[in-house]
Amino acid sequence: MDKNVFRCVECNEQATELHRDYSNGILTITICGSCQKPVDKYIEYDPVIILIDALLCKTQAFRHILFNTTLNVSYCTT
Ligand SMILES: [Zn+2]
Repeated sequence: MDKNVFRCVECNEQATELHRDYSNGILTITICGSCQKPVDKYIEYDPVIILIDALLCKTQAFRHILFNTTLNVSYCTT
C-alpha cells in the first residue's frame, strides 16, 4: 500500500500530494484534478476549527482526519 496517497476532501479523489513546496519557501495547496478545488483546505486550518467541523459532521473534515493526517499507530502494529 502506498503511503503517499491522500484524498481530496471535497470529492474523495486520490491525490499524490496535499501541497507543493516551492524553493522560495512558498507553500501552495494542490488543486484537485477532479473537482478543481483545494485537495485539502484543512492543512492550513487550526486543529480546533477542524475539530468543530468534524463535530458538525462535515464530510470534508472527516476525510482530512482519516486520510490526510498521520496517526502515530505504526509502532503499535509492528
Ligand atoms: Zn476533488
